[in-house]
Amino acid sequence: MQINPNFIAGEWVTSSDYSININPSNLDDVVGHYAKASETNVADAIAAAKTAQNTWGRTAPFQRAAALNSIANELRAQTPRLAKILAREEGKTLREATGEVGRAVATFEYFAFILQTEQGAMFASQRPNMSIHTRHRPVGVVAVITPWNFPIAVPAWKIAPALAYGNSVLFKPAEVVSATAWALTEIIAKAGLPAGAFNLVMGSGRVIGNIVAGHPDVNAITFTGSTQVGSELLKNTHARSNARVQTEMGGKNGILVLDDADIDIAVDSIADSAFGSTGQRCTATSRIIVTPGVYQELADRLTERVLSLRVGDALDESTQMGPVAHDSQLSTDLSYIEIGQNEGAELIAGGAVIDKDNPGHFLAPTLFAGGTTEMRINQEEIFGPVACLIEARDLEHGLELLNDTPYGLSAGIITRSLQSSEYFQERAEAGLISVNASPAVSEHHVPFGGIKDSGHGPREQGSAAKEFFTQQSTHFVRSY
Ligand code: ADP
Repeated sequence: MQINPNFIAGEWVTSSDYSININPSNLDDVVGHYAKASETNVADAIAAAKTAQNTWGRTAPFQRAAALNSIANELRAQTPRLAKILAREEGKTLREATGEVGRAVATFEYFAFILQTEQGAMFASQRPNMSIHTRHRPVGVVAVITPWNFPIAVPAWKIAPALAYGNSVLFKPAEVVSATAWALTEIIAKAGLPAGAFNLVMGSGRVIGNIVAGHPDVNAITFTGSTQVGSELLKNTHARSNARVQTEMGGKNGILVLDDADIDIAVDSIADSAFGSTGQRCTATSRIIVTPGVYQELADRLTERVLSLRVGDALDESTQMGPVAHDSQLSTDLSYIEIGQNEGAELIAGGAVIDKDNPGHFLAPTLFAGGTTEMRINQEEIFGPVACLIEARDLEHGLELLNDTPYGLSAGIITRSLQSSEYFQERAEAGLISVNASPAVSEHHVPFGGIKDSGHGPREQGSAAKEFFTQQSTHFVRSY
């Protein structure tokens, strides 16, 4: 049996303790064995990252851009292989997995490019012969803690800016997606970074997270995952004042469909945002708020679409929705389906596991109707292919229902009215707002993040990433 090792200080470091990674489309298929980092491994990785950062942070930005471009090129060249690993271990369809690898390529390319744009600003001074400008320096050692639902895109959108701006990285992926993390690390390991500038430590989130949160040499932590873990991490890290923390957490996202909506656009947008990636996106829509004139038509059309979705093995090209990623998520989904029925929501599609030839975590896409915002299925993040229709009287009432959640990640409206669209965009409590499109979709070069309980700290991605991954200094220079 081969145990895939961690990558620490430029070396592959194995361990006797390991986790076993299983294919959710076929529980008989073992994807691989992955070393769990010990406390000593994590301490070694942090020490190596600290030393390497001095070298990496002082390299010419164009040299760092070259390294990022070489990572992007290799990711692109290996896209079919990486997409297959991702689909096999996480359960995204091959099409979705290929798209996700493409997103990682674009992200590394973007941050290579951004180093070739303006890096600071110049200001006039109140004083004669004085110029003022700003510079951006690295933060230092950055811990990157990522979830299982985007095994390569989320790591890319944290690792690429961290490295671009001269930081060193300690990468801690979610255990169930170690194979993708390992494949990404294999590529980064060959990009010519100084030993220790990039480290992979796989294993228990609690063990590694606690060390990272309390370690004086970890200067920043960027986290994506559940609100519960993110909030705990925030509390632990804030116990020491010299670390910055960015957390991207849960969502309970809504879409508002008005009487004047184009129903085809509504159905396509909702099918994508509620059931794409098996509903396992933090930006996924799970509350479909609809005004009375189109409620029944939309319910019928959506039911028809949901029932037509082909659920199956992620590696089968004809599959439209893959399995749930792991057993505890499947249990969560099923328990919420039961809660929804007990709360009085009407189950109009799905609601049960599907038996296939492969033993896998296959769940039928599930649609409820007649929901209210008080129901737990409309307040708590489920993170599965489960959505609920809720009737609203009008735009104003719809907005009130949409905002009635502790979360604020994504929101959408389907309408032909420019006025309603503008009104909604000003009032929807969310960090990402879509009009006549799937609210689950974002792009790699624009700010990403939520408000309320969905996030803390500066936005991720695009030029916004600079705020978190650099420290800004202001320079006052008198010429004589
Ligand atoms: P998800 O189930 O969506 O992956 P989690 O919040 O459970 O969300 O996990 C997100 C990431 O946080 C994973 O890499 C996980 O291992 C890690 N993690 C879990 N517990 C902790 C913790 N106490 N401190 C830091 N990271 C943690």
